[in-house]
Amino acid sequence: MRIDNTVINEIRNKIDIVDIVSNYLPLTTRGKNYFGVCPFHDDHSPSMSVSKERQIYTCFTCGATGNVFKFIQDYEHISFVEAVKKCADICGVELNIKLDNNDISNKKNKELYEIYELSQKFYQNNINSSYGKKAKEYLYNRKLTDEDIKYFEIGLSLDNYDMLTKLLQQKKYSDKDLLKSGISTSNENGIYDIYRNRIMFPLHDPFGNVIGYNGRAYLEGNTNKYVNSKETEIFKKRDFLYNYHRARASARDKDEIIIMEGPMDVIRANTIGIKNVVATLGTAFSSSQCNLIRRLSSNVILCFDGDEAGLKATKGAIEELTKVGITPKIVRLPDNQDPDDYIIKNGKDKFIDRLKNAYDLMEFKEILYKQNIDFKNPNDLSNYIKSMIKEINELDDDILREVTINKLVEDTKVDKEVILSKLNKKEKTEVEITKPKRKKRDKYEKSVENLLYYMLYNVEVIKLYDELITHIPNDRYRSLAFQISAFYKEHGYIEVADLLTEVMNDEDTVKAIGEITSLNLKNSYTVEEIEDYLNNIKEYNENCRLEKYKNELASSDDVEQKIALANKLIEFKLRSEESD
Ligand SMILES: [Zn+2]
Repeated sequence: MRIDNTVINEIRNKIDIVDIVSNYLPLTTRGKNYFGVCPFHDDHSPSMSVSKERQIYTCFTCGATGNVFKFIQDYEHISFVEAVKKCADICGVELNIKLDNNDISNKKNKELYEIYELSQKFYQNNINSSYGKKAKEYLYNRKLTDEDIKYFEIGLSLDNYDMLTKLLQQKKYSDKDLLKSGISTSNENGIYDIYRNRIMFPLHDPFGNVIGYNGRAYLEGNTNKYVNSKETEIFKKRDFLYNYHRARASARDKDEIIIMEGPMDVIRANTIGIKNVVATLGTAFSSSQCNLIRRLSSNVILCFDGDEAGLKATKGAIEELTKVGITPKIVRLPDNQDPDDYIIKNGKDKFIDRLKNAYDLMEFKEILYKQNIDFKNPNDLSNYIKSMIKEINELDDDILREVTINKLVEDTKVDKEVILSKLNKKEKTEVEITKPKRKKRDKYEKSVENLLYYMLYNVEVIKLYDELITHIPNDRYRSLAFQISAFYKEHGYIEVADLLTEVMNDEDTVKAIGEITSLNLKNSYTVEEIEDYLNNIKEYNENCRLEKYKNELASSDDVEQKIALANKLIEFKLRSEESD
């Protein structure tokens, strides 16, 4: 699918890259540029510069460079066309294109996706057949409607040994692929279905493809309440969040994301209109899950089960999230309830109240430290104060620091001076921004790079280059000069952000653009400077040629060739004297 370049450039013009990028990650200003922690490598201090003026971003560490489309494309792992469509939607340009995110025909592990697609049809069909009566009753009893069942694509595995496996074998899927997918398993009697008599909650990847199941027992006497699919090539638990593909839009809209433990919690929340919610499936919260969350919003509410395991999971998630700079809020539910139970028992309004009154991180920690502590016991009290001082020392926010200190004084009745004396002095730390690496450049390197720099922003310089065209020794830079000139010939203007759209599949050129724009030279130039650059490049080429002749002359045994080379050298000398 192709969208006309003029339309693409028009959309790019209506969008501000700084606005877009700041939706994904926090940006700090320095001068006229914005900086953020680069999402494309393991970055810790801001290395990515986002230029409002040029509408491009460049990472000084990993070299990632691009315009607004490239950023969205790489950040969200979507296609270029999808990224353009997204921007078109934001700025209100109508694009008559149809997107098919679910085109799995060219995907790696295509067979596994197909096996899940077919299994999903099978399970969904079962629940709507006469075999599904009991399962539906079970779900109705759990206060789910037919609409909920349909929306969450809930299915059913039957009381049957190998019906699905046989069906998939008939569709020509090999036993090897079936076993690899985790839909079938095998023993000495052969290959058979892994799921039986379970209500099937499909697990989707961020693009909406089914990649696994959470199978829930619903019949009396069935052991193992839940069975999750095993990890496969397409299902990695640490990269997975239940309902992510559905929650995405609402989470971005509300700029808030709620994390729960189980599919039933998420489904229940949806029934009361809360859609910005995902679930971990009870696994320990991982750094990849943090990254998925960070893409949606930095306002995170943890709402795990009210039991001890839920508390442990909450602490683990807090640890991971704070590592990536997210300070979550926390909801703790009473009486060991999970969100599903709580909402059924107490209703929508009470639950929404809980969300609104979620604990701040400090409040939550305070509550944890206060547990099982007797303030009248000096040892307990002293331990409590020590724990809190440790937490306060880690706070960056001055106001929160002051508020917490005052609260601690009030709670413990210990003299404020004493507490203050135990605190580290907070020095105002400015965020350290990674500076572009500056290598020492000789006259010739400088000439090539500066020439390209001004070509990227000035039509006049491109014209000068075209007039006095000279051979640029470095392959990548030569190619960049050629691309700039070609862009100008085609469009009659030069704009680095639009040039990036055209060369985006040419990694070397993109990288070269990143290097050149990072030079950040002064805006103004003189024609003399440009001519100097061009002359220096010529001089460099001639020196190279001279060297080449000299070497040939020295190594040649052929008299005639020697004479010819000597003549060339003389000619060369005369010419350079003339031009002096
Ligand atoms: Zn980077």
